Amino acid sequence: MSRPRLDGKVAIVTGGASGIGEAAARLFAASGATVVIADIQDALGEAVAASIAESGACCTYARCDVTDEAQVEATVAAAVAAHGRLDVMLSNAGVLLPTGPVTEMDLSALDRVMAVNFRGAAACVKHAARAMVAAGVRGAIVCTGSVACVQGGFGPASYTASKHALLGLVRAAAGELGRHGVRVNLVSPGGVATPLSCAVVGVGAEEMEAMTEAHNVLRGKVLRAADVAEAALFLASDQAGFISGHNLVVDGATTAVNPAVLRSIGL
Ligand code: NAD
Repeated sequence: MSRPRLDGKVAIVTGGASGIGEAAARLFAASGATVVIADIQDALGEAVAASIAESGACCTYARCDVTDEAQVEATVAAAVAAHGRLDVMLSNAGVLLPTGPVTEMDLSALDRVMAVNFRGAAACVKHAARAMVAAGVRGAIVCTGSVACVQGGFGPASYTASKHALLGLVRAAAGELGRHGVRVNLVSPGGVATPLSCAVVGVGAEEMEAMTEAHNVLRGKVLRAADVAEAALFLASDQAGFISGHNLVVDGATTAVNPAVLRSIGL
């Protein structure tokens, strides 16, 4: 099977200035897409877009705080105005805040997590879908979920709740948008060493990778942002043309089995 391509397609990647979003922006551009990086880290976003553009691809940066619906709407409208259409929305911007144990949960921090991870993604799905439907584009919306979409214990309750809500949003949107030919899916990684995960654990990338490797089920490989980007590229591409409402978990089987049982039988 040939590699997935996005030739002639226009993609927005939210949270594209760093981590998984940056890897996806680079891969989407290398796969033929025109890419708009939407983020709130302006200097980083501009630098990533410039370095992608240096390789000959079309990539620009747009400031867009996904918690502000008007900014999401304007970013989609600007992409359509500049490039004629929107084919792909990778709604990837996310935060993980140390909101504490559930008995002590900081509810204003919970609001912030929900505002970015769930409400922000809802705004991205809404405005990308509106642009696609209005133009008759059979587009692909991909949201970055997490193993925390399907299991507790991978992060604070606030983060887990926001990602479970996102899974519901994607399934509902896939149901509503199917009649327009718009696909909606999730890519759900396990632990990846990025500024988000390293900051919350308080370690560097190397230590973070060693920690995740220690509890991985699939051995001999460390999950990296580039691996997640490959899964997102597949879902965004026409090769996934009949896949919608799906949660593509990229976790080396960690949520498919009970690691404690595996350990107890010596595996
Ligand atoms: P990251 O911190 O490297 O990247 C997140 C990006 O989102 C940053 O560039 C940040 O500026 C941007 N962002 C934050 N709030 C924003 C807002 N309000 N508007 C626009 N952009 C905003 O982290 P990452 O690990 O690459 O995270 C990307 C996604 O992957 C998140 O949705 C996260 O929940 C998810 N995820 C990460 C891991 C992991 O272990 N790193 C695992 C599973 C899922």
